[in-house]
Amino acid sequence: MPQTIPATLIPGDGIGPEIMDATLAVLDAVGAPFEWDRQVAGLGGIAAAGDPLPKATLDSIRKTRLALKGPLETPSGSGYRSSNVRLREEFQLYANLRPAHTVIPGGRYDNIDLVIVRENLEGLYIGHEHYVAIDGDPHAVAMATGINTRAGSRRLLEFAFEHAIATGRKKITVVHKANIMKALTGIFLETAQQVYDAKYKGRIAFETIIVDACAMKLVLNPYQFDVIVTTNLFGDILSDLVAGLVGGLGMAPGANIGTDAAIFEAVHGSAPDIAGKGIANPTALILAAAMMLDHVKLHDKAERVRKAVNETLNVDNVRTGDLGGKASTSAFAQALVKRLS
Ligand code: NAD
Repeated sequence: MPQTIPATLIPGDGIGPEIMDATLAVLDAVGAPFEWDRQVAGLGGIAAAGDPLPKATLDSIRKTRLALKGPLETPSGSGYRSSNVRLREEFQLYANLRPAHTVIPGGRYDNIDLVIVRENLEGLYIGHEHYVAIDGDPHAVAMATGINTRAGSRRLLEFAFEHAIATGRKKITVVHKANIMKALTGIFLETAQQVYDAKYKGRIAFETIIVDACAMKLVLNPYQFDVIVTTNLFGDILSDLVAGLVGGLGMAPGANIGTDAAIFEAVHGSAPDIAGKGIANPTALILAAAMMLDHVKLHDKAERVRKAVNETLNVDNVRTGDLGGKASTSAFAQALVKRLS
């Protein structure tokens, strides 16, 4: 009997179930040995259990320590707190890994091969916010608190250096805004320099850059970067920018890695504008599943999935609408399955 690997499956909201079906078909075709425990979260969690992050879902991930997750809807402005942020906090998923590879040549740039490592638990992104009322206006002033810690910065930076060296990368670029936010992002920059000097000097190239300059340079010449490591909010923004360089959100996978669990997902959201139409591009979630295969050391299967994605898009020319093609989500998945079998 081949050994199975227990893992939690959260199809997610909006296009989630459609792209998850496509991803499961691909994982089946490649013989991935995951034994799925299917759970709900987000709007699905509210509908099924009155909670965007039901206890059963948390218990499942506590047990399996491994999950594949579709996008979860979060209302803007008001409503419940993001289930994604709560999952990151609950399982201390401190590192967000977002690789960006050109899969379809002939776009803005060919041969992009970048990785963004984003701190996932601290900074301005954590949503510690409140309003101050003045003269009867309850929203006269809005305030947010950002928190970065030495320990949190250090563990993320050490993860980034270790990952970069283990995967044969040549350079780490630390992105900050320490000229203006001298304390909040200064601590990240200072810790980066300390970690580099203490453990990684001579093993990999190291440079630092201010976030606005980084954004400009990424657009002008992305090839000057290799691994970018940064704080939560800057990482959120820059990883979408980088996704744009390689064909858009439909192509960008992500991994949330922590001490207690690892959760794999597409970078994009639930795309309510196209949900239920059967036209969503499942590539990002399929590539996230390939990262999950790498995580459990099934590198051959991960590589087979990536190769099949590449050939389906570029040799068979089967593409979804966001990539200028006509294939439905399921037709794209079937073409991939054919490639794999
Ligand atoms: P979105 O990523 O869902 O959509 C942005 C645009 O990209 C839309 O036009 C959409 O149709 C398109 N798009 C996204 N994924 C696509 C795909 N796979 N194939 C084809 N087109 C695709 O961003 P949004 O509209 O700002 O957010 C919608 C919801 O998703 C919000 O509730 C947000 O909070 C949530 N969200 C969740 C996650 C997550 O779970 N990790 C991430 C981002 C946003």
